[in-house]
Amino acid sequence: MKRRPVLHYPDERLRIATRPVDDREFGTTELSELVAEMTATMRALKGIGIAATQIGVNKALAVIELDDGPMAIANPTVRNAAKRLEVQEEGCLSVPGVFGLVNRAATLTLIARTIDGKPFRIKADGLFARVIQHETDHLNGRLFIDRCHEVTDGVAEAKRLGLSIPPLQPI
Ligand code: ZN
Repeated sequence: MKRRPVLHYPDERLRIATRPVDDREFGTTELSELVAEMTATMRALKGIGIAATQIGVNKALAVIELDDGPMAIANPTVRNAAKRLEVQEEGCLSVPGVFGLVNRAATLTLIARTIDGKPFRIKADGLFARVIQHETDHLNGRLFIDRCHEVTDGVAEAKRLGLSIPPLQPI
């Protein structure tokens, strides 16, 4: 399956708040081909999630792949985000070489549609909840570096990009 070039920060197209996938698009070959290309691109770059915005497509669509094969989520919204936060290291295919700590809600409910348009809701915690928040952020034009409070790896690259995030201090 064809791979697509991934946009890198500071490309302004990463800042677009996406349009929802339209009712007429659900169940079409075009949409499933787009998901296949996103999946192939994500796997080639060893990512665990990719948003349509990252390949320059203005649609509220993302693919997440942890242990159970790829899962496409269209028009996702996050509900019931827990007040309890967890901090973990994140990276992003659009900010290659930079990793840092990000606080995310520990648990949430994802409400979304399949690429056939079927609505679903799913409770998520741990890494799954984190990736959902990272990808839905993308679809709203937000990147993990906007929320990152400490860079854990790639300090030189972060500086080169002009990011004003402090490096993690050695204890
Ligand atoms: Zn990302």
